[in-house]
Amino acid sequence: MAAVLRHRLGLEDKVRLSVYDDVDHRLFPGTRYTRATGIQLSHGREGYAFIATYEASEPRLTFSVIAPSPDCLASVPRVTIDNLADFGDWLLGARSANEAQQFRTSPVHRTGCPVRGN
Ligand SMILES: [Zn+2]
Repeated sequence: MAAVLRHRLGLEDKVRLSVYDDVDHRLFPGTRYTRATGIQLSHGREGYAFIATYEASEPRLTFSVIAPSPDCLASVPRVTIDNLADFGDWLLGARSANEAQQFRTSPVHRTGCPVRGN
């Protein structure tokens, strides 16, 4: 999964990717026992976390960047990152980003967060 992310983003070898189990999100939507893959990207002092999941609508691995919920500040999947341009848009704060499928359903939102379930 890390190799797929490295390829899609065209990352140089010196960018370090480490993989872990994401216990909060599922690899396949609607399943209970398949954990999503978390990927930590580290480059110098900078770091970003992603999760890799499959979407219900397409049989393709999807990467979403993990970032604070705008309301409860919990770390949730925010935006789908499909290529380097998406990542660049995200880093620059562009508005055109595609919301991650798990953004509104993530169990990580704090109780009462208005994002969840909307
Ligand atoms: Zn929230």
